[in-house]
Amino acid sequence: MNIQPTYSSLDFPGKMALVLFTPGCDLRCKYCHNPQLLKNETLTKWDIEEIEEEVEKNIDFIDGIVLSGGEPLLHLDVIKNFIRQAKNNNLLVKLDTNGLHPNEISEIINDLDYVAMDIKAPLDKYYKITDIYPSNVKETINKTIDIILEHEVFLECRTTYVPKLLEPQDIKDLTKEIRCNMYTLQQFRNRVTYDSRLADYDEPNPNDLVNILNNLDIPIPEIHLKSNQFGNQIIKKG
Ligand code: SF4
Repeated sequence: MNIQPTYSSLDFPGKMALVLFTPGCDLRCKYCHNPQLLKNETLTKWDIEEIEEEVEKNIDFIDGIVLSGGEPLLHLDVIKNFIRQAKNNNLLVKLDTNGLHPNEISEIINDLDYVAMDIKAPLDKYYKITDIYPSNVKETINKTIDIILEHEVFLECRTTYVPKLLEPQDIKDLTKEIRCNMYTLQQFRNRVTYDSRLADYDEPNPNDLVNILNNLDIPIPEIHLKSNQFGNQIIKKG
């Protein structure tokens, strides 16, 4: 099976969810902690049926599903099946995405309850994080944000902070470019990375990350930090 289902109470805030990691992604982030998922594989009828059975078996224990990856929107037809099944059973649906597929997200937006979207770097500086990315990142990310907010779906934007790749000023710049309900800065972890050279990079000190967030002057209503040491910390709310 190509999709490994995992149960988690952390991936969908406040909910117990079945997380489905789909294969394939159109970026190659140097810090990607799911490098085994980057090769795009076709999902077979059997993969899909197994997942549907897993959801069916656990409907009483979960509040929702999380479509994660990789980039789930590369498998639009498949995830439409999962979403239909979830909605038929009154489950919530969260999508994790890199934000570069506005046409695909517009086809499922009416059935989404929560979107977590990666903002890798200032929108004209994706080269800092990945060697492969589309030329029109800014336009595409903004189009995706417009679709999500127009449909009043909760939008969390999030950035992984790798000190040797990003600077505090990058976080200031990128948070001025985006619109969302919540922004999360994630501490880089060096245990599993797509680019093996990052295994030698230090993980940032969470106190430095708090300082970066406390120095932001932005209208985003809710700001969080996720770190290994302190878990999910609310830096600003309301
Ligand atoms: S971190 Fe996310 S967007 Fe980046 S390569 Fe990995 S799966 Fe793709």
